[in-house]
Amino acid sequence: MKEIPIQKNEEYSLEITDIGTDGAGIGHSNDFVFFVKDTVPGDIVKIKVIKVKKSFAYGKLIKIIKPSKDRVEPKCPIARQCGGCQLQHLSYEKQLEYKQRKVKNCLERIGGCREFVLEPILKMDEPYHYRNKAQFPVGKTKDGKLAIGFYAGHTHSIIDTKTCCIQAEINEKVMELIRNFLETYQIPPYDEESHTGLVRHILTRAGFATGELMICLVINGDKLPYEKEFVEMLTKKEWKISTNQGEKDSDSFKFWKVTSISFNINKEKTNVIMGQECVFLWGKPYITDKIGENSYRISPLSFYQVNPVQTKKLYDMVLEFAKLTGKEIVWDLYCGTGTISLFLAHQAKKVYGVEVILQAVEDAKENAKINGIENAEFFCGRAELVLPEWYKQYPQEKADLVVLDPPRKGCDKKLLLTIAAMKVEKIVYVSCDPATLARDIKILGEYGYCLKRVRTCDMFGNSIHVESVALIQRKES
Ligand code: SAH
Repeated sequence: MKEIPIQKNEEYSLEITDIGTDGAGIGHSNDFVFFVKDTVPGDIVKIKVIKVKKSFAYGKLIKIIKPSKDRVEPKCPIARQCGGCQLQHLSYEKQLEYKQRKVKNCLERIGGCREFVLEPILKMDEPYHYRNKAQFPVGKTKDGKLAIGFYAGHTHSIIDTKTCCIQAEINEKVMELIRNFLETYQIPPYDEESHTGLVRHILTRAGFATGELMICLVINGDKLPYEKEFVEMLTKKEWKISTNQGEKDSDSFKFWKVTSISFNINKEKTNVIMGQECVFLWGKPYITDKIGENSYRISPLSFYQVNPVQTKKLYDMVLEFAKLTGKEIVWDLYCGTGTISLFLAHQAKKVYGVEVILQAVEDAKENAKINGIENAEFFCGRAELVLPEWYKQYPQEKADLVVLDPPRKGCDKKLLLTIAAMKVEKIVYVSCDPATLARDIKILGEYGYCLKRVRTCDMFGNSIHVESVALIQRKES
C-alpha cells in the first residue's frame, strides 16, 4: 500500500488555487490535496494539518504569508467562526465567478452535458442584509450566559452575536428585543445536551414589500411563560429603519410592524428547527408579502424564498424559459406556497401545484384566491407519488410544461421517469444544488431529454449556495 506522505500537526506553506464545494480553499503540496477553510485562491498561506485522509487532508490556516488580490476584509466580525457566510473574505465578483464555475463543472462532469448555453450569472445589487428570514438558535455560552446568534461552522455551539451582515436589519432588532425579554423574565434557554430548558430558536420573517413582521419562538414545551408581556412588548413597537431592501429608488426608510406572533412546539431531541404545531398568540397566523404583482401569505411552517429581491428575477427567468402562450397545462412541483404557480397561472391555461407541507398548500390555495387566480389547483403530497398517480388515472391528459423546484437532494427518480413517460415537452428546473441538478439531467438524458439553457441567479451572496434555472427539452422523436 502506498504510504501517506502527510502527518497530522505538520506545517506546510501552500498556494491556494481553487475553492472546494463547501467553500474551503484548495492547495497542493507533496502531490497531496489540502482543504483549508478561510482561504481564497491566490493566497499563499501557512497551514497546520488537522486531519489526514487517503488522498487529501484538512489544514487549519495559521498565517497568510501573502494575501490574494481577491481577498477582502469581511464586514462581519465573526465571519470566520460562523458557519453562515463561507465566502465573505472573497470579493463579490470572484464569488460570482466561483458560483458560475461550480454550475458549469457540475453540469459537464456529473451531468455529461455538452451543448448548452450557460448564460451570465444574475448578480445581486447588494449582497448584504438581503435575508428576510432569520432562525437564531438560543442556548447558553460555556460560562452559562444566554447565547443567541449562529452556530459555529460544523458545530452546534452558539456564537453569541448581535449582528449579522446578511440579515435584514429589522431581524437583528427583533433578536435584541427578545434577548431582553428572555433576560428580564429569566426564561431558560434550551440545552441540547440535556434536552432541558425552553427556548430553542427565534424565527423572524419580514415582508420586504409590506413591512409586516412574523415572530415565532420555537420552544421545548407547551406553554410560553409571560405570554402577555411578550405580546405587549412586540406590539407596542413600530420600527422605522433605514434600509437597503427593496427597490433602489424607493424611500430609504421603512416602517415595520409586527403582525403575527406565535410559538412553535418542538419537544423532540432533533436538529430539525420547527415542530409540527404552532400556537398563535396575537395577530394573524401568517404575514403577507409581495413579489412582483402577486401577494403571498406565508405561515411559519411554509417555505418562502429568503431573498425576495432576487426571487423576482428568478421567477421572471422561469417565465422567460417557459415561454407560455396561454394554452398550456403546467405542473409546478415542489410548489411551496404556490409562488411560482401564480406567476405561471397568469400566462397558462391551467396550473397544478404539488407540495408536501399541508400548511404551505393551504397558503397556496389562499394565495390563488387573494390574487384572483382561478386556473390553479393544488395538491398536498409527495411529487413522486402525486404525479405518477395522476398519470395512472388520466393517461390521456397531457402536460406541456413541468416546473421542478426540489430541495437540495433533488428529484426522486420515479418522478423523472413519470415526466418522461408523459412525454412532457419542456421542463424548467429551479435548483438550489447544481450537483443534484446535474444528476437529474443525466437521468432525464437517458429518457430523451437534453439541457438547452441554464442561468444562475445569486440569491445567497457571501455564502456558497447556488441557485440556478435550467431549461430541459424533449429531443425530437
Ligand atoms: N417553489 C417554491 C418552493 C421551493 S422549496 C418557492 O419558490 O417558494 C421546495 C419545496 O418542496 C418546499 O416547500 C418543501 O416543503 C417541498 N417538498 C420537499 N419534498 C417534497 C416532495 N417530495 N414532494 C413535494 N414537495 C416537497
